[in-house]
Parts: sequence; structure tokens; C-alpha cells
Amino acid sequence: MDLILANGEIVTAHESYRADIGIEDGVIKQIGHRLGPAGHTVDCSGKILFPGGVDVHTHVEFEWMGHTTTDDFHSSTVAAACGGITTICDYAVPAPGQSLQDCLATWNKRGEKSVVDYGLHPTLFQPGEHTLSEMRDAVADGYTSFKIFMTELSQFDHYAPQYLRCMEEAGRLGAMINIHCEDQCCISYMTQKLAEENNSNVRTLPDSRPRISEGIAAQRALWMAHVADVPAYLVHLSCQEGLDALNDARARGQTCYGETRPIYLHLSRDRFNEEVFPEQYVGWPPLRDADQMEVLWQALDSNVLQVVATDHVGWSTKQKTEGKTVDELLPGMSNLETVLPMLYSEGVRKGRLTANRFVEVSATTPAKLFGLYPQKGTIAVGSDADITVFDPQKPVTIRQRDMHSKQDWELHEGFEVTGWPALTISRGDIIVENGKVNAEPGRGKLVKRRTYTS
Ligand SMILES: [Zn+2]
Repeated sequence: MDLILANGEIVTAHESYRADIGIEDGVIKQIGHRLGPAGHTVDCSGKILFPGGVDVHTHVEFEWMGHTTTDDFHSSTVAAACGGITTICDYAVPAPGQSLQDCLATWNKRGEKSVVDYGLHPTLFQPGEHTLSEMRDAVADGYTSFKIFMTELSQFDHYAPQYLRCMEEAGRLGAMINIHCEDQCCISYMTQKLAEENNSNVRTLPDSRPRISEGIAAQRALWMAHVADVPAYLVHLSCQEGLDALNDARARGQTCYGETRPIYLHLSRDRFNEEVFPEQYVGWPPLRDADQMEVLWQALDSNVLQVVATDHVGWSTKQKTEGKTVDELLPGMSNLETVLPMLYSEGVRKGRLTANRFVEVSATTPAKLFGLYPQKGTIAVGSDADITVFDPQKPVTIRQRDMHSKQDWELHEGFEVTGWPALTISRGDIIVENGKVNAEPGRGKLVKRRTYTS
């Protein structure tokens, strides 16, 4: 055996038990007692062993709205590793007119700097006949999910019939459709109104993209998925109206899944009233009223929602503060390093989620939905040795200066958590040990994913 993790408590989506883990050639070889001998043994007394986190919603390195992210594949995956995440699935976003294959080649070039394994979801823009054959080739190459934005960004309303055709093709290919649900008609109307009232600024951002806009779009997305006969995965839902759409679709027998994002669990729209740098809180959809936070926690616990993913994207303070009106403000923030410790502290420690459910929403279910399981997302013999050795007692105050993203500010500055990764292990390599990173750029590999239906 190359490595033995001894005396820890193993927590998976379905059980918690004490045993040792034996690792050889990057794979979990044995789970039991008195394993050995081993080249190296780590005593994990007092620690919890989770499957490494699987974050299926990131934008770790790209250009958007005229800006380039502060992070690249290296800095963001180092941040991920330090936060206990061992696999990401990033959105590959084509330039205008670029084929999915050229776009994936661009993303894989960037991915050569990765320190953890990664998958890619191709994004569909201005779809035409050529898109269908590109989708077939993408699925054959192990890219088995496609993203659609329902907003102006992708001219969704103009191309709706073509997007529907793509959804049908995804269904035929056994792939998943990931949908960003916000209704552009609603957003345009509210944005115009705020501008006319001379009231378009960061404080009114939530009014420009109201809850009903998420509800309309989520209902429409799921009805379209019903017509197309494709499993649908709604990204970053933020409120009851999005959840209602999932419940309605399930009631008519549809296969659909919901993701939420840390900011909606931990923050509410009151943040926009802060004097200093309220732009940091801008995301799409926007932060909601405080009562929606508990609605989302309950939806996670009761399986109305299945996944927590970050939507990680690093921007500088300068980039975040350039825009003034609601339509100019740059959405998104760095989140890969803090998501799991905060979900553990606020979720498991506060009794909102069991430790098993924490593993399920942050590793096992995302791995299953996106064709990575059981290679990723669980601790089992034969799975990749992607393991987070978590110290559940460690108090940490989150500080930007300690973070590994290149973003020059931290959304959760000063937030106190109890519990932080002590070791992060990726395919048997200890890539982070008590905050020290020991991982060469490029050790992370592209993971080809199976289709949803296989
Ligand atoms: Zn996103």
C-alpha cells in the first residue's frame, strides 16, 4: 500500500463508520482494520474523512462582459484543493461563432495548469444546425452536459426554437441540460423602469431581477425540457419560485434537479445597504430577502434541491466597482475555498443537514448527475482516492490574506467557522497538508464523463 489513512471516521452519503483506508496507485484499495504495510501512514484520529468535494459549477478562467477573471485554472484549483474540493466542472463558453470543439480545446489548454481533476460543460450560444453535430461529438468525447442561459446574454428569446431543438438532441444523446433560469422580459422591463425612476444602482439590483423572473424562467425551462424529453438541471436557484417549478415538474413525472449556491444560503439582500463595497454582493440571480435563506436550507435537507455548487468566478475590486447601474454591475465572486467549511459549519454544526447529507449535496449527487460516479464522489474500494481529511474542531476566521484565489477581496471576510480541511488528497497524492500546498500545475487531469442515462 502507498498510503494508509488510519483511525478516522469515514462519512459517505449513506453511512458513517470508523475504519482505515488503504490507497495504492491513486485508488482506494482497501477499507478495514489492520491494513498494511504501507509506505506512509497518516493518523487521522479525531478527523472526519469525506469524499473530496465535487463542484460542478465554476468559471475559473474566462473573459466575460469585457473582463478577464483574476483567477486562472491554477489559482482557482489551488483554492479548491485548500477548501477540500478535488474535482470541478467548469463551463466552457464559446466566443461568437466558435465551435464547441474549438472552445473545448481552448478550455483544455487552460486546464493544463489545473491541480485537481476537472470536467467541462459546453455552453450553447446562437445554436444552429451545426450545433447538433457538435453536441454529438462533444458527448462522444466525454462532455455529457450542456448549458443554456435563458437571458439576453445568449439571445435566448430570439433563438428559443433552436435551443429547444438542442435540448431534444441532448435528451436523445443521454446528456443533461443545465439551465440558468432568469426571464429576460421581466429583467428588461424592471431595468427600464428603475432607469426611468433614476433609481438604477447596486441597492436596487434585486428589484431588477425579481424572484418572479426566476419563477417564470424555471417554469418555462422545465416545460421546455418536458417537450424535449431531457433531464434538466437548474443551476443556482435562489428562492421559493424556483423551487415551486421543480416541485410542479416532479408532480407531472419529470426528471429534474436543482442546485443552489452558497451566497443564497449565507447572505441576504440587506447586504446591498452596506456603505463600503456593496458591489461585492452582486450575483445573478441577486441576493433575496432573508426569509429565503431558511427556505433553501430546508429544500436542501428535504431533497427539493440536490446540489450545492459555487459558481466561482474571481474578479478584482476594480472590476466589481466599475459598473454603476443594475445592468452594468459585474456578477459573481470567488467561493471555492470557503464553500465546504461554511456549509459544514452553518449546515451540519447548526443541525440543518446531517453529515451524510452534506457529503451527498457537495460530492456524491453532483458526481452521479454528471457521470463521474463512482470514480468520484464517494469513499469506496475502486474509487479514486480523492479524500478530504477534515478537522471538525478547527476554528478559522476567513480572511482574504489567507485565501488562494487571486481575487483581492473576500466576500466572507471575518466570518467564523469551526471545521477546516487538514489534508486534501487527490488520486492518492496529499496535495494540501495543513494549508501547505504541494501540487504541481498540470497534475489535475480532464475527466471524461459518462452520459446521464448510462
Ligand atoms: Zn455560472
